[in-house]
Amino acid sequence: MTTSAELFEQACRHIPGGVNSPVRAFKGLHRPPVFIERAQGAYLFDVEGKRYVDYVGSWGPMITGHADPEVLSAVRDKLDHGLSFGTPTAIETRMADLVCEIIPSIELVRMVNSGTEATMSAIRLARGFTGRDKIVKFEGNYHGHSDSLLVKAGSGALTHGEPSSPGVPAALAEHTVTLPHNDLDALEACFEEIGDQVACIIVEPVAGNMNCIPPLPGFLEGLRRVCDQHGSVLIFDEVMTGFRVALGGAQAHYGVTPDLTCLGKIVGGGMPVGAFGGKREIMSHISPLGPVYQAGTLAGNPLAMAAGIALLTKLREPGFHDALAQRVETLCSGLEARAEAAGVAMITQRAGGMFGVFFTGQSRVDNFGQATACDADAFRRFFSAMLDQGVYLAPSAFEAGFMSSAHTAEDIQTTLDAAEQAFAIMAR
Ligand code: PLP
Repeated sequence: MTTSAELFEQACRHIPGGVNSPVRAFKGLHRPPVFIERAQGAYLFDVEGKRYVDYVGSWGPMITGHADPEVLSAVRDKLDHGLSFGTPTAIETRMADLVCEIIPSIELVRMVNSGTEATMSAIRLARGFTGRDKIVKFEGNYHGHSDSLLVKAGSGALTHGEPSSPGVPAALAEHTVTLPHNDLDALEACFEEIGDQVACIIVEPVAGNMNCIPPLPGFLEGLRRVCDQHGSVLIFDEVMTGFRVALGGAQAHYGVTPDLTCLGKIVGGGMPVGAFGGKREIMSHISPLGPVYQAGTLAGNPLAMAAGIALLTKLREPGFHDALAQRVETLCSGLEARAEAAGVAMITQRAGGMFGVFFTGQSRVDNFGQATACDADAFRRFFSAMLDQGVYLAPSAFEAGFMSSAHTAEDIQTTLDAAEQAFAIMAR
């Protein structure tokens, strides 16, 4: 049997850092990454045959669990028809109709291949629509790795200590204004000064790439107000929150309507898909309706559409999201109780089907500064003890956790038992 450690060594020969996305490398965790062979429901199975209760869910898409039979069967049904045609297909219309029905602020939607493409295209559109260059984002928010957005970013960029990547031209980065998250005073001061130059505000409505940070009351409403006052486009990056925080995403959960929405992860059911859409008035500027260019050889791929439609259809079952949020609640309150009993300073934060675990003595974490001030060593020890006991958490203190409808009460109990052990080790 080849072990994960051996496979990682082999991978490093021809893949930079042995991985195709940096956070998978377990950097800073003092152990090689686990190589997964297959997954089913709430579980991952590694190449050594070990089972893990999974709280990553392929970084979000697997909201009904891995290898969902209905999603797989939808893909199988399409498989023999061919993999890609580069022509319009009826299934793309079905997907567009479904997305627009579920998220009413989306009147027109364009499918792309990743969340990165969705946000990159949405900001190009906002710039083309307004004729302005500057964009406003928030510290620790991650919107994929396009140049304009890789400034003070979260996620892997943050985990690897390079929130602003080398290789982003200074001339481009200077158009990206980064403000503290959840801080309306800073936002208003910024817009008073340069509001008439700002094409758009882009925000993760629940920040999930610096752990899990829900919006403070009034924050999202403030973004909406400022955009209306200054003629800027409000973009919600719902790549993570879309269909997860609520069926209609964070915009439905918090009752604030953006002009444009970016989607990814769940919308593709586990296939490489993203989407951006919104007001017809703005979306009409996209090619071929309008002059703002955007395209994709494999965009709207039939297998990917089939997977996404099958998954979205399941999520429309009444009560799905309430039950999911209840599971998250049970997990998080159980973790907090066990940490407290062990004398470990830890809190959780949650929004619908996503959550975060912070090793801190503070009662809340609302921004990047507070998230990065948490105890990184405590996280590393917790992560490692959980992994040893068969619980797979996100391998970074700056990533949200995800639950699925496949997580049973027994899985949660297994996780809480493991946490009790982990906290006991940490408290020694
Ligand atoms: N936006 C958010 C909020 C994300 O969480 C991510 C990825 O994690 C992206 C954009 C980029 O998506 P992708 O990795 O599919 O390019």
